Amino acid sequence: MIADIKSDGRIGLRQFAVPVLCYHSWAVGGDYELDNHLALESDLKTLAERGYRVISLPVLVEVLRGERSPSPLAGEKLVGLSFDDGWDYDYCDIEDGRGGRAISIHSILRQSRQWLPQFDEGPRGVSFVIASPEARALLDRSCGAGLDHWRDAWWAPCAAEGVLGIANHSWDHVHDTLPVVRQRANQKGSFFEIDSFEDAEGQIADAQRYIDQKTHGRALSLFGYPYGHVSAYLRDVYFPDHGARLGIRAAFSTGGTSVRLNTPIWDIPRFVCGEHWKTKSDFSALLDTVEKGER
Ligand SMILES: [Zn+2]
Repeated sequence: MIADIKSDGRIGLRQFAVPVLCYHSWAVGGDYELDNHLALESDLKTLAERGYRVISLPVLVEVLRGERSPSPLAGEKLVGLSFDDGWDYDYCDIEDGRGGRAISIHSILRQSRQWLPQFDEGPRGVSFVIASPEARALLDRSCGAGLDHWRDAWWAPCAAEGVLGIANHSWDHVHDTLPVVRQRANQKGSFFEIDSFEDAEGQIADAQRYIDQKTHGRALSLFGYPYGHVSAYLRDVYFPDHGARLGIRAAFSTGGTSVRLNTPIWDIPRFVCGEHWKTKSDFSALLDTVEKGER
């Protein structure tokens, strides 16, 4: 984790390692293992105790794209924060129906500013949202409790506040509970199947336009691959050729390793809560391996 500065001031590639974490706000209720809100709060405290600072993902992307010097990052323990699928619980505090309230991701991030410092400017976390209103309405019933908790009305105020930025997690996630998805053969459950120009335009370009409109022009220039599935076409052809036109500058997968200076910008790995770690002690062990340069 600690970057070594070479005699000429450059940071050693081997030593630069930034874990980017991913949570899902629909995981709520119960203890750390079931509730990503509790896990996030606990993990942010662990990170603060260990001397980490948050790096905004757009800032990290500028470093990876060579637009910003990595030298100020030398000696820093840095962590990136992201949230997938864009449930209301990313931004809206949750009423439990019995007068209790659970705290949203946005509230946790805002409060954590008091005890977990940030490396630089920019949003503290990124919410990768599913664009299609029709898909979210159906998913709210198939995956949720049908409580209309998968809306987009909060995107604009959330993006404007600047704590939790809004970014693109595809048009419909090619989710396997949807009757029809934007894939030429209606192949569901795998984003690897988005491997043609037409499907990429439907899933990525249209989503970016919709999200940008709903956030009044504040959509971040980042993409999060559904299921963490990275097709060679998207990584090697579509994003390199069309990213500038789309206003997308980097894409995040769930590769389960730290980000390094030579990480490719169209396949930036993340660690997923519940997959790469499940408990508070798992999380500390994960940071141990990251800090030793092993992950
Ligand atoms: Zn997702």
